[in-house]
Amino acid sequence: MPSVRKPLFAANWKMNKTAAELSPFVGDLFTELAGPGAGEVYQVLVAPPAVYLQALSVLARGKPMELAAQNCGTAASGAFTGELSPGMIRDVGANWALLGHSERRHVFGETDSLVEQRLKAALAGGLRVIFCVGETLEEREAAKTFAVLERQLQCLSGFDAAARARIVVAYEPVWAIGTGRNATPGQAQEVHSWIRRWAGNELRLLYGGSVKPDNAESLMAQADVDGFLVGGASLEAKPFAAIIRGGLAGKGLK
Ligand code: PEP
Repeated sequence: MPSVRKPLFAANWKMNKTAAELSPFVGDLFTELAGPGAGEVYQVLVAPPAVYLQALSVLARGKPMELAAQNCGTAASGAFTGELSPGMIRDVGANWALLGHSERRHVFGETDSLVEQRLKAALAGGLRVIFCVGETLEEREAAKTFAVLERQLQCLSGFDAAARARIVVAYEPVWAIGTGRNATPGQAQEVHSWIRRWAGNELRLLYGGSVKPDNAESLMAQADVDGFLVGGASLEAKPFAAIIRGGLAGKGLK
């Protein structure tokens, strides 16, 4: 049966880019992606630094490009210095939040419990969520990959089908993020098929970790890879568009 899961290509800019670079990026990306498809056959999402969300949402008007915040606060308002509420994120034109990214977990010490609170707040506040999971190299080498994923994914089990329909899971092995060493297509599929058994046929599963134009097609050719979360290679429009084209080719869509 052909997949009914719409491919999703998400760019995570992390703490990169300047205001002056936003317009050229959007212009170049949609020159590269000209023709039918974007928004219909596949979805494009960009997660810029939060200070650029509003400007990017103006530039994205009328274009099939959705926006995500790179995190989301746990409350609607209050004494939470440095945080952004789901309502604020929606106010500036984003309808997604990226949660549980490995840099939040491992650099900033966000626990499973905090990520779960963020998830609940984001969904309650009307956002869609890309929920990131993944094991470290040490955990993989100790054969703990699936135990780690089970722990990280635990918080999704409490949600009903309507809430789960607003969640996308991104499998991002920590050892592959920003290292130039991607999981092989077989390694990605092994984990994705495990998550699929756990999460069901509807949920979209993205792979993230050193996705590049030259590995996009083979990764996306895997049955349970429904798209990518891309860091470094999403900072420029051309390689990001080449990843999208490669991914679509992997699914026989272009
Ligand atoms: C990421 O930060 O989510 C990521 C996958 O980064 P990179 O593509 O640079 O490995």
